[in-house]
Amino acid sequence: RNQEQWNEVDQYFGSKLLAADPVLEGVLEANAGAGLPEIDVAPNQGKLLHLLARIKGARRILEIGTLGGYSTIWLARALPEDGKLVSLEYEHLHVQVAEDNLRAAGFGEKVEILEGAALDSLAVLSKREVEPFDFIFIDADKPNNPHYLRWALELAGPGAVIVADNVVRDGEVIQEDSQDERVQGIRQFVEMLSTEPRIDSTAIQTVGSKGYDGFILGVVRAGE
Ligand code: SAM
Repeated sequence: RNQEQWNEVDQYFGSKLLAADPVLEGVLEANAGAGLPEIDVAPNQGKLLHLLARIKGARRILEIGTLGGYSTIWLARALPEDGKLVSLEYEHLHVQVAEDNLRAAGFGEKVEILEGAALDSLAVLSKREVEPFDFIFIDADKPNNPHYLRWALELAGPGAVIVADNVVRDGEVIQEDSQDERVQGIRQFVEMLSTEPRIDSTAIQTVGSKGYDGFILGVVRAGE
């Protein structure tokens, strides 16, 4: 493992391909100032989410796990004028910081944060009979990933993109008898994906400023 080299390579590509971004830098400062953990996606990963949402032409995005709204802003920037993003978060402080950050970034209207346990908010969303989501980012408590997948499939429209972060966990994901319930949550999630006919998916390992990890990318089959 060569974290120093991964940081330098991220820095190199970041300096070439990611424009200076005072808004997002301000978000990270505000998060640190409020004592939020630094577990947001890295800038290049945020941009990947943004590009994927643009490629998809996403109009309605659902995010599970807001933290301070860093990935939320990357995703919201991909939305068209009439687009909407709903993000779920249960820590009151995180919601407050994220709301401030989103307002400062100009997304006070387009983004709605639902405060509460994500499983409860997902049930509320389903009762609201909202239009289906076309992009869903799963990035909260990993033990609940199997439940989040079930809800994602219920709330997604045909052709929706589903991304789940932190599925490699330093390679721990292959430890069948891991005592880490996050690893077990990911393993069950992968097991479900392997037999779920409604979604086509793949997993990518990544290294970079956030260490050795990876994400799953899936597309809900048309007609489901
Ligand atoms: N997506 C964010 C980003 O990249 O900027 C990072 C999200 S962070 C990895 C996970 C967030 O999910 C934390 O803010 C945590 O409080 C929240 N969370 C964890 N379990 C939750 C639950 N059951 N319901 C709602 N939010 C939860």
